[in-house]
Amino acid sequence: MGSYANGSTCANEDPPSAEEMKEPAFPPKPMPLHANGWLNDMKISSPTAVRVNIGNPGAFDPIYRAWTKKYPSAMNAFEKIVAYGKGKKTVLFLDYDGTLSPIVDEPDNAIMSDQMREVVRNAALHLPTAIISGRSCDKVFDFVKLTELYYAGSHGMDIIGPMGKTGSVTDNRSCTNSGAKQDKEVKIFQAASEFIPMIDEVFGLLIEKIRGIDGAKVENNKFCVSVHYRNVNEKDWPIVAQCTDDVLKAYPRLRLSHGRKVLEVRPVIDWNKGKAVEFLLDSLGLADSDNVLPIYIGDDRTDEDAFKVLREDKQGFGILVSSVPKESHAVYSLVDPSEVMDFLKRLVKWKEEEALK
Ligand SMILES: [Mg+2]
Repeated sequence: MGSYANGSTCANEDPPSAEEMKEPAFPPKPMPLHANGWLNDMKISSPTAVRVNIGNPGAFDPIYRAWTKKYPSAMNAFEKIVAYGKGKKTVLFLDYDGTLSPIVDEPDNAIMSDQMREVVRNAALHLPTAIISGRSCDKVFDFVKLTELYYAGSHGMDIIGPMGKTGSVTDNRSCTNSGAKQDKEVKIFQAASEFIPMIDEVFGLLIEKIRGIDGAKVENNKFCVSVHYRNVNEKDWPIVAQCTDDVLKAYPRLRLSHGRKVLEVRPVIDWNKGKAVEFLLDSLGLADSDNVLPIYIGDDRTDEDAFKVLREDKQGFGILVSSVPKESHAVYSLVDPSEVMDFLKRLVKWKEEEALK
């Protein structure tokens, strides 16, 4: 019996049609502020999970096989990645949901396995490692529980350094620790702290609005409110879109972005996961270095900003985690979190061997 990618538990799901698998071009256009436009994006952002044979995903799927010609498996390309990174400082950026944990129906249950935690901890011992998530730093830390990492929560708007301490500064790039490289020093950055009261307000309003929609869930991620509809019957998706639209009308400084079966309300500021990657590289004193190999692994549309930064800088590699073909700024692909774990193990082994030389 085959496994289901993306943590889907829907045993009767059909494979997506070619139309469903199409992703919109990047960068994403601003979302139209009406429910029908959103509904279309909700469908595009939430492809039905496709049955794959884990370990050899393309074996029975010619479309996926063709796609991996454009985005080769990072496992198959491992030697090439290593050859490029030889002697360089490798920095690892990891998305959380769908990358380190399976996508699950209940967001609070997106638990990382102990095995994955150990692999990530091991990675952090060998190379600077950051988790960049749409969730708040606190929530990601609750799941990951590792003090050795950098955490960039709320799409990178809230950054803390190793040791897991938190703090608050209103601004800004002035706290960039250019040139600083003390691994154990906590560095803090909050790009949008002025928005926190507004986000709290919108969170309260959305809770009220969606109260009657079966399966809908609103989550406060400090700098971002997430409206999850993965448990909502598709016939009710227009109501979710309409309710969110109704609330957002009064907040022109907030905008909407689409994740997989989640609407995310964020401040209108020039900040994203790509900026967070740049900030962290700068904090590590590696922003202008030719001797660095940043690797970013993620599965979301919001990860595309980071893939784009690495592609444009020609410094590093984006790796898209996906079991369905989709357009991306990533260079390589991995099929699911279990392959991410295999890749990280291999990366650590390579670093261990390199240290012995
Ligand atoms: Mg994700």
